[in-house]
Amino acid sequence: MRLPRFPLAATLVALAPVVLAAENAPSSKPNILLILTDDQGYADLGCQGSPDLRTPNIDSIAASGVRFSHGYVTAPQCSPSRAGMLTGIAQNRFGYLDNNNNRGLPALEDAPTIAEILRSTGYRTKMIGKWHIGAERNEEGGASTGGALGLANLPEKRGFDEVVMIEEGGSHYFPYSPSGIKYMKDRGREPRLREVSGPDKLGSFIENLPPETYLTDYFSERAAEFVRLNKSKPWFLYLAYNAPHDPVMAPDADIEANSHIKDEKRKKYAGMVTAVDRGVGEVLAALKETDQLENTIVIFLSDNGAPPENGGRNAPLQGWKGDLFEGGVRVPYMVSWPAALPAGKVYDNVVSSLDILPTAAMAAGASLHNKLDGVDLVPFLTGSNSGQPHPIHRVAWRQAYFGIENNLKMIRNNKQPKADRYSDIKKLPADTNFNLEENPGEDPENQVTEGEDLESLVNSTEKWRAVIDAEAQSQSLNPSPAGLR
Ligand code: CA
Repeated sequence: MRLPRFPLAATLVALAPVVLAAENAPSSKPNILLILTDDQGYADLGCQGSPDLRTPNIDSIAASGVRFSHGYVTAPQCSPSRAGMLTGIAQNRFGYLDNNNNRGLPALEDAPTIAEILRSTGYRTKMIGKWHIGAERNEEGGASTGGALGLANLPEKRGFDEVVMIEEGGSHYFPYSPSGIKYMKDRGREPRLREVSGPDKLGSFIENLPPETYLTDYFSERAAEFVRLNKSKPWFLYLAYNAPHDPVMAPDADIEANSHIKDEKRKKYAGMVTAVDRGVGEVLAALKETDQLENTIVIFLSDNGAPPENGGRNAPLQGWKGDLFEGGVRVPYMVSWPAALPAGKVYDNVVSSLDILPTAAMAAGASLHNKLDGVDLVPFLTGSNSGQPHPIHRVAWRQAYFGIENNLKMIRNNKQPKADRYSDIKKLPADTNFNLEENPGEDPENQVTEGEDLESLVNSTEKWRAVIDAEAQSQSLNPSPAGLR
């Protein structure tokens, strides 16, 4: 079932581009490398304090740039998190509630994706990995490229010149092996990778890769290839690993490299992260070899927190993928841009995955439209703006939502329509409030129960929720209500 697109006229009127000059930017446009992992826990990097995972290459991004201690995604689940990140708009505002209940992306005129914006300023754009952006599944519950996703939501229709993709999560990691082909076909899924290239942008399936092809390694190889081939003009590469989402499987050598881990599931998960880290190292090496590292913005984050079943960890945060405790939505997140940002910095104010689009757009010299909920982070990271990027931070997922202001967090769950298989939030009372500084693990036994600050946050967040619900109902996007108090 396809739902109607947003009417164009209503929102074009409100589109008033604001053109600002990116500060401290080098004279040439930077490349943008956006690396996303899938279901990777907050604790699961060396630079995040992991006692057992070794990730020297990903850690090197933090060492050469800024690591965010309070970096949030916009949903504790794959598809809505990506929809928000790629548009810079809180996805509930355009009716993108969860993996299966959404209207797809808004039209280009309402909400250009990061790829569309960068391409319009002369960037070569490529997407490699898991896409997982689309509209509702078909009535049979199956998913097929161009069917369930909807043709309008394919990456080549939303700004990407070149694509190497799998459709969604839960993919077998050796898709060209006999067991991988069977695994995917048993689930009604396409085992082959889809590629789009050339001026006519015709998509086709990649045939006959060796059966031992491991998805993570293949994505890394194609990413490094793109970096080497595109030295002469600015580019945007969205490298969306599906690891370490389940099924938990890694090459034997990568599992063996983690033999210090005794728990078998954790060891396999660590093997998946080892492969991602190796791949990130290969892409960074390609940047160095071609003298592009200095003026490339490298962003790394996970699309949501770890679920309990893949062996990941979100400690010391409470909760998992699928709820609105910190463990569901606060993720490993960092950015480096040697030409313009400080190195080795930890930034503690709240930042959002919604900030990636405006940050990249400003660095590229593009204009920002007034529907964006994200902000350009560069002035905050250089120190020229000592304020907070998001003095009040809010996230809505399904019918639940939370607000954070000065470490005070309120979660509201009173309209949650259905229990999620991961959800711990359903165990909570409807009104749950924490001081994250004093209670970072969100122990329900130690809640904030009263105070003017709490009252103010609750009132303004409930007002925000009503505004975005009305906006989604109306199916037209308005200027961002992010500053609503
Ligand atoms: Ca995910």
